[in-house]
Amino acid sequence: MKRLMALLFALFFVSFPAGSASAKIRVVSTLDDFASIAEAIGGDHVEAMSLAKGYQDPHFVDAKPSLILRLSRANLLIVAGLELEIGYLPPMIDQSRNQKIHRGNPGYLDVSNGCEILQRPTAQVTRAMGDIHPFGNPHYWLDPENGRIIARSIAAKLAELDPANQAVYQGNLAAFEAKLTEKDRAWQAKMAPFAGAKVVTFHNSWPNFAKHFNLVVAGHIEPKPGIPPSPSHTLEIINLISSEKIHAILVEPYFDLKTPKFIAGKTGATVVIAYPSVGGTPEIKDYFTLFDVLTDSLGKALGGPSQ
Ligand SMILES: [Zn+2]
Repeated sequence: MKRLMALLFALFFVSFPAGSASAKIRVVSTLDDFASIAEAIGGDHVEAMSLAKGYQDPHFVDAKPSLILRLSRANLLIVAGLELEIGYLPPMIDQSRNQKIHRGNPGYLDVSNGCEILQRPTAQVTRAMGDIHPFGNPHYWLDPENGRIIARSIAAKLAELDPANQAVYQGNLAAFEAKLTEKDRAWQAKMAPFAGAKVVTFHNSWPNFAKHFNLVVAGHIEPKPGIPPSPSHTLEIINLISSEKIHAILVEPYFDLKTPKFIAGKTGATVVIAYPSVGGTPEIKDYFTLFDVLTDSLGKALGGPSQ
């Protein structure tokens, strides 16, 4: 038995020599989008996972014990902030008993800092008024230029936590930014024929995306973010789509299609399932393919390349 233990002990240290696998920075992000960017910047030095999956509503996550365990082991927590995660994250952080990832500590990174945040309220808004975007629109990662800022914040944070590999993070950031610039040229070219086109969206997830790609969000099926459609508001949207000759209704994959389909039936507009995050479908495997798929599906709904 003693010999077996010694053997197992030896095997353990051969398989996991100090400073390799065990030295990875364990990143937990609330969104797959941030995990994807963290992987691009951190390469082999990070191990990233997210709490919300790309096909789930990012405002609501089930606090599963497996996720709390991941938080308890995390070196870095990356959040969207602006209260996107207020409905689930604070109790999960408490339950993780991991001081490192508490707000204000080095293992907590709010990537909204430095990003262009739209729809910041001018008067005081509270969630009691039914609005789940009280500090401005929290879906800002849907502008590739904000993705660039997020990548820079993550690179700086990884270098702070792991200064020995600072040059690696800087190099990966440069490669990420170069690819983003190149890809964005192609995305912009694909969307250029639809400049100024109006769309209706289910949730108010798309102001940054619309601004970047010159679309106009004319209305939302939700009367307010987080408030389900009502008959009177649905009628207003039907009238809006008809009078403005709007072609596309964008619906995030986690909403019921009943109202969007009803509106489409009354107006002839097309319902587009618009995936706002990495992992929404298997083909959206990183931050770049997210925009590949979004620009493809929107281009199709707004008239295709022939228009
Ligand atoms: Zn929202």
